[in-house]
Amino acid sequence: MSDSAAIPSHVHVAFLPSSGMGHLLPFLRLAAALIRHRCSVTLITTHPIVSSAESQAISTFLSAFPQVTEKKFTLIPLDPTTADNNTTDPFFLQWETIRRSAHLLSPLLSSSSPPLSFLVTDPTLMASVISVTKNLCLPNYILFTSSARMLSLFSFFPSIPPSIPKASLPPPLLDSKSSFTRGLSENSKSIELFDGVLINSFEELEKQSLDMLLNKGLPPVFPLGPFLPLEFEGESCFAPLEWLENQRESSVVYVSFGSRTAMSEEQIRELGKGLVLSGYKFLWVVKSKIVDKEETGDDLAEILGHQVMNKVKNNTGFVVNQWVDQWRILSHKAVGGFMSHCGWNSVMEAAWNGVPVLGWPQHGDQMINGEVIEAAGWGLCVKTWGWGLNNHLVKGEEIGDKIKELMENQMVRIEAARISEAAKAGGSSENLTKLFQSLKK
Ligand code: UDP
Ligand code: UDP
Ligand code: UDP
Repeated sequence: MSDSAAIPSHVHVAFLPSSGMGHLLPFLRLAAALIRHRCSVTLITTHPIVSSAESQAISTFLSAFPQVTEKKFTLIPLDPTTADNNTTDPFFLQWETIRRSAHLLSPLLSSSSPPLSFLVTDPTLMASVISVTKNLCLPNYILFTSSARMLSLFSFFPSIPPSIPKASLPPPLLDSKSSFTRGLSENSKSIELFDGVLINSFEELEKQSLDMLLNKGLPPVFPLGPFLPLEFEGESCFAPLEWLENQRESSVVYVSFGSRTAMSEEQIRELGKGLVLSGYKFLWVVKSKIVDKEETGDDLAEILGHQVMNKVKNNTGFVVNQWVDQWRILSHKAVGGFMSHCGWNSVMEAAWNGVPVLGWPQHGDQMINGEVIEAAGWGLCVKTWGWGLNNHLVKGEEIGDKIKELMENQMVRIEAARISEAAKAGGSSENLTKLFQSLKK
């Protein structure tokens, strides 16, 4: 987002992100953009916090922007007798915990000084938060943390837009009784009560989905992306960047499945085999646990096996199991391809930096996001590997072949450069102006 949007006076915005870095980061990035436009910002932080990555991001954000007011929102612990026992995922459980504590937000929001102009709410919390803000007569905008294509599914639900194949739907959505389906459909029903939807996407990339949403008569959708990283996000592990410095241009494949997708050890070993077989140099962020705090004791050599470790020893591969500065990695000229789970933030970061993507969707909205990449032509999305649900092991040979296919494909490279140009030229600042104008009404 550039700085040229019309500057409103005395706008005070509160942000309510949900749990998971894929939700927190876009909130912090948008908050920083609004601070640059001289808005006052309140950040609502929910406690306890699930991952170290989130705690760290919040504290560095607050120290970088001392003018931001932090409001601590202490959650009521989830009653295990009433909790959904189909899921053990700590992030999903946290979403439910926040939803059940939503009534506690009322005093926190009404005591803000100066009074709030509006709240920005995470999509996973919509239905429970909208009743609170309606009571307070406080305008409420959603920051949708996925693609416009996913937003079209979300807002049409229980209908499915004809453009989305059944096989791409988040798997738990096929079960009408799953907690995922319940959560999504309650939130989707509440969309009409909101004042607007902010989204980290841009018109050139998702015109069709954005037009479809416009024609549906929803609250206005403001594409404000691609969101840019915060200066201080890089305070993590510098070793991968140092390693990249010594690699040839576009010679490295970067491999990461985001902040909360753990791969089985068996699949990690096949992926390692694939990377070795591809013959390309690789920078690989290995994750064998969903929450980062549990990862520290892992012995990488034991998980990866000697072939991969040999590549690491002779400097043709680099492996980490901690937080890396993904933005800087993707903007490094040595990176020629990105093997990704297609989490939406990763997709937008690849778009901005013009990096061709090999999509291997694992969960949720990721197949739908992968289709956005394929349609725009700057990557491949493998659909025959199934979801990362441990019931299908993808063999190293297949993985190696796909990596070669990506790295040798000149067309995706040309399209990636084109998408990057479009991302940088995008109309996010005009859309931000439109958002501020809509506030005045
Ligand atoms: N990320 C990062 N370093 C890591 C892992 C993730 O900077 O080691 C960032 C990544 O750049 C992205 C976000 O965390 O901004 C992950 O969001 P995404 O939507 O891609 O996937 P999720 O983690 O939600 O599955
Ligand atoms: N999962 C994830 N990200 C997602 C969705 C799922 O990391 O966006 C993980 C999580 O560990 C979850 C598991 O995949 O428990 C199975 O997820 P699914 O959504 O299939 O079903 P659930 O267990 O929530 O019913
Ligand atoms: N969703 C929801 N409630 C839920 C689960 C999902 O509203 O209980 C919606 C929400 O918009 C979310 C999207 O479905 O962003 C995709 O869910 P996923 O599990 O893939 O999570 P994400 O990738 O957003 O972390």
